[in-house]
Amino acid sequence: MTLAPLPASAELVCFNHSCRARFPITEILYNCPKCGGLIEAAYAAPSMDAPELKKLFRERRMSNAPLDQSGVWRYRELSPFLDDYSHVVTLREGNTPLLDAPLAADYGGLKALTFKHQGFNPTGSFKDNGMTCGVAQARRLGMQRVACVSTGNTSASMAAYAAAAGLKAFIFLPHGNISFGKLAQALEYGAKTLEIEANFDEILALIRVLAERVGIYLLNSMNPFRIEGQKSIMFEMLDQRDWRVPDWVVLPGGNLGNVSAFGKGLREALAAGLIGRLPRLAVIQAEGSAPFYEYVHAGAHGEFHPVAHPETLATAIRIGDPVSWPKALNEVQTSKGAVEKVTEQEIADAKAVIGRCGIGCEPASAATLAGIRKLTGAGVIDKDADVVAVLTGNVLKDPDYIHKYHTDKLIAPGGVKIESTYGNKSIVMLNNADKIAGLLE
Ligand SMILES: *Cc1c(COP(=O)(O)O)cnc(C)c1O
Repeated sequence: MTLAPLPASAELVCFNHSCRARFPITEILYNCPKCGGLIEAAYAAPSMDAPELKKLFRERRMSNAPLDQSGVWRYRELSPFLDDYSHVVTLREGNTPLLDAPLAADYGGLKALTFKHQGFNPTGSFKDNGMTCGVAQARRLGMQRVACVSTGNTSASMAAYAAAAGLKAFIFLPHGNISFGKLAQALEYGAKTLEIEANFDEILALIRVLAERVGIYLLNSMNPFRIEGQKSIMFEMLDQRDWRVPDWVVLPGGNLGNVSAFGKGLREALAAGLIGRLPRLAVIQAEGSAPFYEYVHAGAHGEFHPVAHPETLATAIRIGDPVSWPKALNEVQTSKGAVEKVTEQEIADAKAVIGRCGIGCEPASAATLAGIRKLTGAGVIDKDADVVAVLTGNVLKDPDYIHKYHTDKLIAPGGVKIESTYGNKSIVMLNNADKIAGLLE
């Protein structure tokens, strides 16, 4: 794909390469008004050279300034869409660790494996990296209200950043489809939650009309500024590795915003001379919600076929009609990457193995290790490869799933029972010192 010529500073550009219409960075756009394509931010090349940028990013880790302490805004020269940083509200997002996991490496058929754990974010998922940028843009535009359609991590993150920024947050949901576990954070952060008698797509269409009519800024994943924030996950990962490029970066795919962000960030890092080559991107989907896998494996041409009734216990990737698939396709192809799908059983077992490393994650994140195991088995990923897998969400996001897995009660969609392969049940005992001592010996 041809890149648009770089603008003088920052602007919005239609991603559709046969259109490439350009718009001011301050226009409120979620799709191209000319062709309906996805929108992305584009910038002039950074004015500093690569060694200067690397030195600046490293020095900022010693700083007490909030902007420098943020793992997103520390890299602001690479996402320079704001003209005034007083609009930024940071909860010190990013700053997530790289963790070595020998047990998981072994399970995945690798000599070594590193997890970049985005579950260490303030609201427990990588959505925070994107949300600090989306909310900064909302404030810059003078918007007082923000909204999204989501029952999961997007709503938790948006609610937190809106509250911190003094904006009103509205979360729209299909009526009768609420999981309070996933919504608890949003309620705590004070977001107004509206249950509508309609399905997800109908509600998305509705809030787009409402957004324009009553002036609400939308923070769903088609918002281009969320992508700008999520790019920083790759900048931070590279910075933490002293800019040594891994062979593979593996991540779960739902709406495919995150892989789009990673690919864009990596291409921009290459263009800025920060790295000398691109890592290959591997996207892992859950079998019951794998439209991107099916599309790519059918040759990636012609019409994209959404999955009408997506199913998986990994709710963060239960997406039938991923908004960002054209961007994701470009990133997978450009990086000579791969797309894989995994079963519910494979996700559940991989998740327990990640737990045994003392790390833990939510179900969607564990799709990475399950996918690595398949890709090494198929010879796509070499056992000696340098692999970074991105764990997208915190282990405490879905405690119900964990308890059911370990007590042999986890049921996949369609009624299929998940085997408790690495189960770890609690043991009930009488208050008897001899018996308990016997067990402990
Ligand atoms: C949002 C989310 C995903 C999916 O990311 P996309 O950008 O929609 O592909 C995966 N895991 C977790 C924990 C998430 O919150």
